[in-house]
Amino acid sequence: MLRMLKPNSIILHKTRPQVGQEIQACIGCNECILACPAVAEPITIDMLNRETLSGPISEPVARFARACYQCGACVSPCPVGLHRDSMMLWLKVRLLSIGSGE
Ligand code: SF4
Ligand code: SF4
Repeated sequence: MLRMLKPNSIILHKTRPQVGQEIQACIGCNECILACPAVAEPITIDMLNRETLSGPISEPVARFARACYQCGACVSPCPVGLHRDSMMLWLKVRLLSIGSGE
């Protein structure tokens, strides 16, 4: 059943390459996190960017990804026009697909 939830560019805001480009373009200013109503514990941009598309997902990042409700409040404050909401959506899908979201 979880196979049906594998990353699919049709249902996600942005494709994996696009999200990868945005992560590369991130200047780490933290404005997206400051604007986010779902942050409940300290979390760093480095952790988020490192874990969004590959590798293990730490518990704080997993909790934040589960808490993200795709409100989009993180998008307009970004000084370089990036989409943290799309990055978080990829994290959510990864959590589901690797079974770490339980
Ligand atoms: S989309 Fe997610 S990460 Fe962005 S502000 Fe809303 S809850 Fe926070
Ligand atoms: S606001 Fe934009 S540039 Fe700043 S940390 Fe967030 S995604 Fe990166």
